[in-house]
Amino acid sequence: MDAVGLETPLTLCVGKAAVRRLADGGLSTVRDLVYYSPRRYYSWGRLTNIQWLKVGEEATLLVQVVNANLVSNRSGQGVRLMVDVTDGTQRLTCTFFAKNRYMLAPHQRLLKPGSTVLVSGKIGEFQGKLQMVQPEFEELEDSSPEAVARRAGRPIPIYKAVGGLPSWKVSALIGTVLERLDDSQIPEVIPDEVRARYSLMSAPAALRNMHQPEATVDWETAKRTLAWEEALVLQTALLSGRRDAAGHLVRKAHPLAPHDGGAGSVEALINGLPFSLTESQIQAWGQISADLALQVPMQRLLQADVGAGKTVMALLAMVSAVENGFQAALLAPTEVLARQHYSSLGDLLTRAGLDVPLHLLTGKRSQAEKNEALLRLAAGEAGIVVGTHALIQEGVEIPQLALLVVDEQHRFGVAQREYLREGREWTPHLLVMTATPIPRTIAMTVFGDLDVTLMKGMPPGRLPVETHLVSNTNAAWMKRIWSRAKEEVEKGGRVYVVCPRIDGGEASSDLGRDGLGEEVTIEAEGDDVPGDGTVGSDVPAAEVVAENLRSMPELDGIRVGLAHGRRSPEENAAAFSQFASGEAPILVATTVIEVGVDVPEATLMIVLGAQRFGLSQLHQLRGRVGRSTTQSVCLLVHSPTQSPVTEERLDAIATTTDGFTLAEIDLRLRSEGDVLGQSQSGRFSGLKFLSVRSDGATIAAARGVARSILADDPALLGSSALASAVQASLGTEAVWLERN
Ligand code: ADP
Ligand code: MG
Repeated sequence: MDAVGLETPLTLCVGKAAVRRLADGGLSTVRDLVYYSPRRYYSWGRLTNIQWLKVGEEATLLVQVVNANLVSNRSGQGVRLMVDVTDGTQRLTCTFFAKNRYMLAPHQRLLKPGSTVLVSGKIGEFQGKLQMVQPEFEELEDSSPEAVARRAGRPIPIYKAVGGLPSWKVSALIGTVLERLDDSQIPEVIPDEVRARYSLMSAPAALRNMHQPEATVDWETAKRTLAWEEALVLQTALLSGRRDAAGHLVRKAHPLAPHDGGAGSVEALINGLPFSLTESQIQAWGQISADLALQVPMQRLLQADVGAGKTVMALLAMVSAVENGFQAALLAPTEVLARQHYSSLGDLLTRAGLDVPLHLLTGKRSQAEKNEALLRLAAGEAGIVVGTHALIQEGVEIPQLALLVVDEQHRFGVAQREYLREGREWTPHLLVMTATPIPRTIAMTVFGDLDVTLMKGMPPGRLPVETHLVSNTNAAWMKRIWSRAKEEVEKGGRVYVVCPRIDGGEASSDLGRDGLGEEVTIEAEGDDVPGDGTVGSDVPAAEVVAENLRSMPELDGIRVGLAHGRRSPEENAAAFSQFASGEAPILVATTVIEVGVDVPEATLMIVLGAQRFGLSQLHQLRGRVGRSTTQSVCLLVHSPTQSPVTEERLDAIATTTDGFTLAEIDLRLRSEGDVLGQSQSGRFSGLKFLSVRSDGATIAAARGVARSILADDPALLGSSALASAVQASLGTEAVWLERN
């Protein structure tokens, strides 16, 4: 038979039936199949004799099949295959259960009387006799001691079933294909010297050792090599995104010159601020303004903890665009946040005596208001527009856009972020801001196409929020909470009461629509059953909690507001402004308040059903208090039915206020699949070999290698294998999932 290459369709290599099943599992080429990674490896371990076995232990035996009987279960449900085996001294029964006899046909075929097999599993007892239930087994053609020892020492790859094909079948198909695979057709993506430096295998060796290892070290090195390859391709793709195939800059921006002499708008703004910029704000502005002055479009991620003062950085950049005669846009993830930005930017501009046109464009504004803004924007009038995703829709024209700021970046996909920047002669500079501290490996993997500015620290005078865990089973504490709320209000403070749901109805009623929804999906925790929505139940609902608080004697005379994603923007805006002014100093809300909402008088936050929120969500929520020089408190009310992970999450949030520490803990507590997810636009299905949780060092090293390769050879003319791997990976993207 002819040799095959990676792009050969499987129809040319394996039988028709198998092709159909593999296609069902999404595998259609040789590449798909040979890059299908085993989930784990099984080791036979040391061989034992039946006479030494004890019930409950794991054992591996070399045995001969004496007889095999297929019987129907007495219940009438399903069948079982009972295989008696012997090691020459004693007997043991291996039992396999299945729904029907067809499912046991392969077992029957291999476990014929007289055949020699390795079996491995846990020893049990049935009617006084030793037995193994569903053991792993493998037939041995050569039962010489050497052959057996070799076989027993060889790890067995275990695959996730593909299109209904079980692991051993997948393994056999991969074996068939590997036999015919021409190694010279497997591109070597990792440069030789890098392979030598990090003790990696060649590409063909890595593939072969992943599927057919002789020893544990073989597949470990194989997987490490494949992870490296993946990291290198990803980092090269991310770092080369700003250049075309010839190595030229793909896009050009309007350079924004600083207006000198201290007479410019930026200076006026800085002088007009009600505070002085912190050291780290000044540094961040240094980096941003240097980027803005270039013709290379800025692509910068500004990372700073909640409340660190990012908004003013955005305003400085936007004013700089306007000062140069251009337009600037600020994209916010929610209506609430957009309105708040609009009003606080307006205040700062007024204070500085700057007459900069400022527009608000959100889905829920009236058509007349929108039309006015749209007309002035389309005319190219220099100014600032703040908006939600209503900004990134057809019919919105901002011809002179020189700067796009995206707030709370994690709420937008790359495609949304790029929408306003594409198809223009001049590419707007991009500043994305996030208050979600991102672990370093994630930042390099997901936001690898952005330069990162870390703005550490807080404006002066802030006290860290005191956080306490409160179990909702403690009636005395639950009562105390509400009198605590009353005290806070009497002192002139404001109290947020955060609930995981909107109402007591359907469990899905408060789920966010998507990344742009007003609210974030709160996923149930498996063992938790949605409660009845009353205060103290498992899943408190905002509507119900607000009702309860309004009729609570402890809170007599205190107005309680309500905000959530199913109320109209006017209702929410009214609730927020009554909260801010102190008219309704208790606000019951869902996660609509999660991002950015800024009411400095808020000093107490009560989170109900805290076990329902993710770690970064809790951190974001808590960031709504502690925004002044008064000591703030956060009470996390939780139900006692918790998984260890939930418990660790709550402990973490209660003991540290540092967002970066929390982000690292969060990463550790998540499962790998949770960390990187499918984006709305990309066909990215997650990383195959690379773990952002444990391969930080590989990712960092690969980024260094990618950078130096691109520095010498921006068009990758000398690395064709890498170039085509990068090309193939384009259009794929990873997203950092905010939820858990
Ligand atoms: P975030 O980084 O979470 O977006 P904001 O930009 O909303 O934070 O800022 C939080 C609060 O801190 C705002 O009230 C803002 O006016 C204030 N602030 C920003 N910078 C400073 C500073 N240098 N000194 C004092 N207060 C500041
Ligand atoms: Mg903000």
